[in-house]
Amino acid sequence: MKMKTSLALVGIAATAALVLAGCSGTRGGDAPAAGGDKAASDFTVGVAMPTQQSERWIADGNNVKKTLEDMGYKVDLQYANDDIPTQVSQIENMISTGADALIVASIDGTTLTDVLQQAADDKIPVIAYDRLINGTKNVDYYTTFDNYQVGVQQATSLLTGLGVLDENGKDTGVTGPLNVELFAGSPDDNNATFFWNGAMDTLKPYLDKGVLKVPSGQTSFEQAAILRWLPETAQKRMENILTVIGGTKLDGVLSPYDGLSIGIISALTSGGYSASALPVITGQDAEAGSVKSIVAGEQYSTIFKDTRELGKRAAQMVDDILKGKKPEVNDTKTYDNTVKVVPSYLLKSVIVTKDNYKKVLIDSGYYTEGDLK
Ligand code: BGC
Repeated sequence: MKMKTSLALVGIAATAALVLAGCSGTRGGDAPAAGGDKAASDFTVGVAMPTQQSERWIADGNNVKKTLEDMGYKVDLQYANDDIPTQVSQIENMISTGADALIVASIDGTTLTDVLQQAADDKIPVIAYDRLINGTKNVDYYTTFDNYQVGVQQATSLLTGLGVLDENGKDTGVTGPLNVELFAGSPDDNNATFFWNGAMDTLKPYLDKGVLKVPSGQTSFEQAAILRWLPETAQKRMENILTVIGGTKLDGVLSPYDGLSIGIISALTSGGYSASALPVITGQDAEAGSVKSIVAGEQYSTIFKDTRELGKRAAQMVDDILKGKKPEVNDTKTYDNTVKVVPSYLLKSVIVTKDNYKKVLIDSGYYTEGDLK
């Protein structure tokens, strides 16, 4: 169990820091603090991740764990196999076994209200990791990428791949019409609408002018969304669209995640497209398999989100809170979870294509050449 009483003084400092940081005044007030008579190694950080079905989340889990362990903390890292009750019970278990802080990448951002109330009752600070946790006051900080901007980048790379924009982002005057289909992420993931809005705001002028056309007519988020980001669901939807649009040739597909792009590519190749003449297909996460596909000329682009940086940021937030310091944030307006605007630190993402993958992914040490062979 956590030592609460002997840390009253540090606790007061932590309260002050959290109030200053704009947290609800009671949260984390007497949270145990590293330093003083306690070392980082006296603290356990619970890290709840959604799934191991995607490389990105495996990298996130490993990076958070390693950074915290290098700082001296003990780490309880759990993956929930994309199952909401599993994630809830993993977090309950972290709380009951004495976690001193939680880092949570939610599956469905609206399902953690009760368990996070338990965390609040135990004065356990909570960081929302990459995905906002909605509908609760009991989330102290949020770290993620600029999700709207990720959507802008996805659509920008689609337009570049289609030749509508040049490499400097300038309109080339191409009039089309070019046929594109649109995919969105999981409707229970707060990020999905940010990606969609960023992408659609970017594509809208071209849809309005008729440079781009959506042959299926499916242009709403609800129609485009893929529950739980499942590749097989995206594959099914792409197959259905191909049936609906008959022989109409597609020039591009907006896909918000590499896993979906894999499903989409499978549907296209079984639907008669050759792997060397696929539409321009976007993605997200720079997963190794999809970077290989980009190098092979199948998928066109992905968005690289450096999970090393995100892991460091989340770990630093926990370290600051446990030491009674105020974590750094750079956005206090965007992420309203319906109960509060969660103070956030947003990182920047990068468009990756065949042209820059070496520089962005290999020179930065994110992958070795061997990883992409
Ligand atoms: C993440 C994306 C990821 C998607 C599917 C989103 O919440 O921000 O990076 O592609 O989940 O795992």
